[in-house]
Amino acid sequence: AKQQGKAGFVRYVDGMGEPVLAHMQLGGELRRALDNDEFRVVYQPIVRLDGRRVIGVEALVRWHHPTRGVVGPGEFIPAAERTGLIVPLGRLVLRETCRQAAAWLAEFGPDALKEAGLNVSARQLHDPDFVDDVSAVLAESGLPCERLVLEVTESAVLRGQQVSRALYALDSMGIRLALDDFGTGESSLSLLRAFPAAIVKLDKSFVDGIEIDDGQPAAADARKAVARAVIQLAHALGLDTVAEGIESPEQVAALRELGYTLGQGFHLAEPMSADEISRLLAAQQDQ
Ligand code: C2E
Ligand code: CA
Ligand code: CA
Ligand code: CA
Repeated sequence: AKQQGKAGFVRYVDGMGEPVLAHMQLGGELRRALDNDEFRVVYQPIVRLDGRRVIGVEALVRWHHPTRGVVGPGEFIPAAERTGLIVPLGRLVLRETCRQAAAWLAEFGPDALKEAGLNVSARQLHDPDFVDDVSAVLAESGLPCERLVLEVTESAVLRGQQVSRALYALDSMGIRLALDDFGTGESSLSLLRAFPAAIVKLDKSFVDGIEIDDGQPAAADARKAVARAVIQLAHALGLDTVAEGIESPEQVAALRELGYTLGQGFHLAEPMSADEISRLLAAQQDQ
């Protein structure tokens, strides 16, 4: 079955009854959107769990579609990866984030914001120009290498020689690499030996329900056990940790008890515009 979506997207209804975007058409739309400058970057604070000071941000891309409104990355990153458009889109996010982070550094000083992170797809790491691009963007923006965090997922890292070479080259430049969604892959532990990570981001799925002490004790205990194992491992290897997807003060308490010091999540701060981040940093400076 086929139906015309609101904004001219043809939606196909598959056998499960789930409407999915027609990827060929979405690819064309993305190309047009890139030419039309419809992508924007928002920033989610990374916060100290004690005292709630903002120490970093993660850049997240949004598509300001002329008729559909703001479209989240879950709806177009897969198509951007399939079509290869993630390469120019990723470059745009990289350039904007570095420019913005350098501006925050200039305005608020070296202690205001320790780092700015962004997501990198496997496809970008495969691009033979990626390392040179990053190097050029850093030079152009004036952002010091050690202020940049590149977040990669386990599945992206496990893609062979070319990716591995790129990751080691980035690490040797002083850029910090974060393993995103940590714990959800099949070989998280062995990966830490083979990959120059500086940070592990504990996946939201281990934070969900971590505060529950009764009701479903077994499930909560399993999550807590993973969260505990991850921080012990991180400490042993000298890695920083960030707990993701924190939605309640009870989760903050449970994570602090396990030794987590940094977190990210709607309870702490939602993704916001660069101007809103500036206001947060200004308010922090006055404290
Ligand atoms: P991610 O890298 O794991 O980013 C965190 C996602 O979780 C973001 O969703 C963020 O808005 C959301 N989030 C943060 N705190 C909470 C919370 O407390 N509860 C819940 N339910 N969600 C929370 P978003 O912005 O929709 O991004 C989804 C994914 O899209 C990202 O997951 C990342 O994998 C990808 N993505 C976003 N921007 C980019 C980009 O510029 N390049 C690439 N390659 N991927 C991107
Ligand atoms: Ca991420
Ligand atoms: Ca994540
Ligand atoms: Ca994720």
